[in-house]
Amino acid sequence: MKNFAGYKCSLCGTEYLQGQVTYTCPKDGGNLDVLLDYDSIRKKFQPEDITSRRESSLWRYLPLLPVSEPAGDSTPLHASGWTPVFALPRLAEKLRLKHLWLKDESRNPTASFKDRASAVVVTRARELKSEIVVTASTGNAGAALAGMSAAVGQKAIIFAPKSAPQAKVAQLLVFGAKVILVDGTYDDAFDLTVKAANEFGWYCRNTGYNPFTLEGKKTAAFEIWEWWIKAHHDWHKKDSQLNEHPPLSIFVSVGDGNIISGIHKGFKDLLELGWIPNMPRIIGVQAEGSAAIANAFHADTETITPVSATTIADSISVDLPRDGVRAVRAAKETNGTYITVSDDEIIQSIAELGTMGVFAEPAGAAAYAGVVKGTSLGVVGSEDPILVLNTGSGLKDVGAAMRAVQSAPIIEPTLDAVKKLL
Ligand SMILES: *Cc1c(COP(=O)(O)O)cnc(C)c1O
Ligand SMILES: [Zn+2]
Repeated sequence: MKNFAGYKCSLCGTEYLQGQVTYTCPKDGGNLDVLLDYDSIRKKFQPEDITSRRESSLWRYLPLLPVSEPAGDSTPLHASGWTPVFALPRLAEKLRLKHLWLKDESRNPTASFKDRASAVVVTRARELKSEIVVTASTGNAGAALAGMSAAVGQKAIIFAPKSAPQAKVAQLLVFGAKVILVDGTYDDAFDLTVKAANEFGWYCRNTGYNPFTLEGKKTAAFEIWEWWIKAHHDWHKKDSQLNEHPPLSIFVSVGDGNIISGIHKGFKDLLELGWIPNMPRIIGVQAEGSAAIANAFHADTETITPVSATTIADSISVDLPRDGVRAVRAAKETNGTYITVSDDEIIQSIAELGTMGVFAEPAGAAAYAGVVKGTSLGVVGSEDPILVLNTGSGLKDVGAAMRAVQSAPIIEPTLDAVKKLL
């Protein structure tokens, strides 16, 4: 079942048929939005047809995705998405917030949000009968592509900066991808990957380049929608008292800007289908040292000026964000905003989330650092319902985690030594 109707350029608005383009707009290089056949979906489905499905992965949203159901079942590719939402009561109390939740994307098969994108791109690659899929990655996109590819026997090649954290590189290698470490930045790896894909005819998954990554990422919005209507039955009904509570504010960390754009797209799909009455607020969080999109947002422009990125949060360390324009719009069109946080605030947030049993890598914790800052800046009010995404597992970067805590004492194996310590 496929409701894929083509593409529309996010810059010039030109529409393309399925076979006409593969990556970006031939006229201006703009990111392409996938168009769905909304009329046909609306005729065939009610929200309840989706929310009553038993499938507990992102594939429960198959009618809203531009790919066919992947062949086989019970592989990690079939198990991406459908991540849990936790309440964070003690942190909420600390911040004087009434409602604070965290959606834990570290529960994905390769332990980051990127599995959503890679599950859909690999499915697309199988449809296109591509022999090899390639991606540039700071680590997680590669791990996700390598893992999803391994799950279904697809060949994958990953270009990553040689500075990528060891755990991420280990994942790439264990999943059996061909791993090529580039003596340069993520941006260097990105450009090289595009060139190599063109030269050798590989299918390129690059974030903010391949339109299907966003289609995978938008499934997080669908899950948030389902979670919300199950918790607050009136939210999706047009005639309900919408003023009863403020809109949900969603905090998400931003590097290339593809996750935030994906979440925006998911809610736009739901709005287009008439399944939600209005948008939640989407608030992007960037590291101070890698804030090209936040800079553009606050300068009220869609022109993204590259930076020379430096941050401990390697997953959001990006000189030139590849999905910057749509990322600016995600906040702008939803009454959201952008917040920047320092590396110290990010490290502190790793420890704070840890007190609730959540283990986040720096880029994941950055979103929570944004909640802390956003609360003090008055970006959100104490009554606002807030959902923060943890986009990646702390196990991805143990070195950064150890900077968030004090190291443990080492003692002689005697009771005396224990007594002395206590
Ligand atoms: C990729 C990634 C992000 C940012 O996603 P973009 O689409 O690049 O903005 C945030 N957190 C983690 C853990 C990631 O891997
Ligand atoms: Zn265009």
